[in-house]
Amino acid sequence: MPEIEIANEVAGMDIAKETGNSQEFELARMRHSCAHLMAQAVNELFPEAKFAIGPAIEHGFYYDIALSQTLTPDDLSAIEERMRNHQRAAEPFTRNEISRDDALSLFGDNPYKIELIEGFSLDEEISTYQQGDFLDLCRGPHVNTTADIGAFKLQSIAGAYWRGDERRPMLQRIYGTAWPTTGELESYLERLEEAQRRDHRRLGRELDLFSVNDEIGPGLILWHPKGAIVRYLVEQYEQKEQLERGYDLVYTPHIASEKIYKTSGHLETYRENMYAPMSIEEVDYYLKPMNCPGHIMIYKNQVHSYRDLPIRLAELGTVYRYERSGTLHGMLRVRGFTQDDSHIFCTHEQIVAEAEGVIDFARHMANVFGYGFATYLATKPTKAIGDDATWDRATHALRQALERANLDFELDEGGGAFYGPKIDIKWLDALGREWTGPTIQVDFNLPERFDVNYIGEDGERHRVAMIHRTLLGSMERFVGGLIEHYAGNFPAWLAPVQVALIPITDHQNTFCREVETRLREFDLRVAVFDHSDRMQAKIRDAQLQKIPYMLVVGKREVEADSVSVRLRTGEDLGALTVDAFLALVQPIITSRSLTLTSPLEVTSAAN
Ligand SMILES: [Zn+2]
Ligand SMILES: [Zn+2]
Repeated sequence: MPEIEIANEVAGMDIAKETGNSQEFELARMRHSCAHLMAQAVNELFPEAKFAIGPAIEHGFYYDIALSQTLTPDDLSAIEERMRNHQRAAEPFTRNEISRDDALSLFGDNPYKIELIEGFSLDEEISTYQQGDFLDLCRGPHVNTTADIGAFKLQSIAGAYWRGDERRPMLQRIYGTAWPTTGELESYLERLEEAQRRDHRRLGRELDLFSVNDEIGPGLILWHPKGAIVRYLVEQYEQKEQLERGYDLVYTPHIASEKIYKTSGHLETYRENMYAPMSIEEVDYYLKPMNCPGHIMIYKNQVHSYRDLPIRLAELGTVYRYERSGTLHGMLRVRGFTQDDSHIFCTHEQIVAEAEGVIDFARHMANVFGYGFATYLATKPTKAIGDDATWDRATHALRQALERANLDFELDEGGGAFYGPKIDIKWLDALGREWTGPTIQVDFNLPERFDVNYIGEDGERHRVAMIHRTLLGSMERFVGGLIEHYAGNFPAWLAPVQVALIPITDHQNTFCREVETRLREFDLRVAVFDHSDRMQAKIRDAQLQKIPYMLVVGKREVEADSVSVRLRTGEDLGALTVDAFLALVQPIITSRSLTLTSPLEVTSAAN
């Protein structure tokens, strides 16, 4: 059975939004036309094939096909060849409008098209497009002729449930990519190859960072020692920063009674994402899908005056949310994950300063991990609670914070949650891909539902302003992203093993063990490669493990209390005394430098 994938998901990365941009539109039209071209070829080779849907997606297109025979990569080449023949023939795409009844009889032997037609509203215009002998149900639009389709390549075959529903039939999905020119196609395929080389699932296995185990269950991550140390270092660093920035750390339980989720509204609006309850002394308890209710109860445990605000509660909170098995993807899309979650309780006047503080924090984290930054301000959607004045005020506050931080941002019109506007920050990784990053979400809903207040200067009770904030998102997705961003080459401060000690012969084993002890005293993570392999094999092994520093030790080095320093990049730093090596690496590690040869220069006194 082919790997199961889901439509329109490039896991973790955000699909380019529908921008209304005409260039994007033309590209999508061309790619969708290429899907028809592919269906035409498939239809010739497999006349019994039934076509379901064939949309354009980011970078290309797919078509879902019902076919008893399982398609193979060889079939893809045969399909491609026929596509090229039809492309050369410059067959025009012709549109026809037909009645609903004609459509139902024309596609009578295709249950998928019938279901689509039956789903159309009665006044909907129904049209077909035909090129050559191939006719398809389609709204269009299409390019003029098959010759207007650019350079394409069929990429893979996957299983896909009809309408993404695991109770419906599984279809075969052929993915393809299409570009205006051959050059663009080639450069895309190169980028793709690079992305596959960096795939965190592959590197996670090769570097022994994490696994997913069927007996534990899909979408549940097992962090191996080498992955766990990376997560621990990230968490420890963030917690330290949070404390310095005036956050208070809290812990809340993994389960909570139904009472809280009734009040929060989660049982009403979020139930399909929650797991079935367990009954404890006749009360239903749920695995927590979000940390907010617990933090609100901590805030509400006492009466707060305006002088106490802002209160910033932070937790590495593990939550469990239902995701369909077909959508799970390595560490990027999982069923249990730990958010670096915080809830800021403040006055409405403080929203600007608080958002500004989070933006500064987010910027700092982007620098530490070497990410670029893309920022969006999401405004009021059509379905929303709260009056316009409240929305305007909060949206204005977020905008002001962005402007004060001198941050370029794009407006995501109508992209806010129903309960408030938000700032979305995307990390831009080494390949220029966008990853979900920090969010700063104002919430008008929960303070109402939970009646969350503070006592103002006037002695009256006032509704608190509440901000949900994550910086890294979830530890799973963030570390998964880091693996791809660094291609497994973690900077020295994060590398699971920082130093490999490589004795040339057994005679240097004792000295290497001594050096190991000395380095460990300075908290370096060291492995001694004293197995019986030849030196070259040990170096290769250390390189495959992407260990930043390899210290080779022979007779001469022992005599001089030194080590020969090689980097995983292949660079050779020559012989250094053990003390000189320590003097080199310690500032690199403590400054969290992204290079292996020099510490990060501190450019400003702040942070
Ligand atoms: Zn079409
Ligand atoms: Zn929250």
